[in-house]
Formats: sequence, structure tokens, C-alpha cells
Amino acid sequence: MENDCLFCKIANGQMDTRFLFENENLVVFRDINPHAPVHLLIVPKRHIRSVNDLTEVDSAIVAEMIMTAKQMAKAEMVDQSGYKLLFNVEKGGGQVIFHLHLHLIGGWKK
Ligand code: 5GP
Ligand code: ZN
Repeated sequence: MENDCLFCKIANGQMDTRFLFENENLVVFRDINPHAPVHLLIVPKRHIRSVNDLTEVDSAIVAEMIMTAKQMAKAEMVDQSGYKLLFNVEKGGGQVIFHLHLHLIGGWKK
């Protein structure tokens, strides 16, 4: 756990954030400032700063994040209508929380 990292605190249960899904490796919760009717964040419990910091040992968690996103899209009933999966990477890429997270965004009206 990294000091002063908001998503470390959330993912390790130190905030009041309600999880839609949790297992030993990651958590899923709703974005506080949603950009679409469905806007979830898939967040590993282990601190990784950004996609730039991924190494070979992180392959499994990245795969698990994407597979979890797929399951959450189905649970939120946006799998058929479609959705976006997004990693913002570093400041220029729009990242403001420097703890790896995958955005799942969808649910727009047809
Ligand atoms: P980024 O721009 O770093 O890719 O995305 C960070 C996201 O985290 C933003 O969409 C922002 O709304 C969300 N966020 C920031 N603080 C909190 C919080 O305390 N709770 C929740 N649920 N989402 C947060
Ligand atoms: Zn962190």
C-alpha cells in the first residue's frame, strides 16, 4: 500500500466506497463523477502507478481486470448495447489518480 494513495485506501476498504465486486486481487466501484449512465472503475488492490509501470509479473492482474470488466458489463446490462474500456495514462493522457484503474463506460441511450 502506498501512502496518500486514494485508490489504495479505497481498494483496501479504508473508505466508505461500496464495492459492486471484490476478490483477493481487485475491486469494482462506481465512479464518483460518472461520464455516462454506467461508469465503473476496476482497481487492483496492489499499488501500480500506471500502465507505464506494468511489468511481466503484472500480466495476470491486467488480464483479470479486463475479464472482470467483461463480467461487470454483463451485470450492468450494457454488454449488448456496447461500452468503452479505458486506461488514462499519466497527466497528458488524463490520468488524475496515479493508481492503475480501468474505466468501464456505457449505458448511453440509443
Ligand atoms: P483518471 O482520470 O485518473 O483515469 O480517473 C480517476 C477517476 O476516479 C475519475 O473519473 C474520478 O471521478 C474518480 N474518482 C476520484 N476520486 C474518487 C472517489 O473518491 N471515489 C470514487 N468512487 N471515484 C473517484
Ligand atoms: Zn495506490
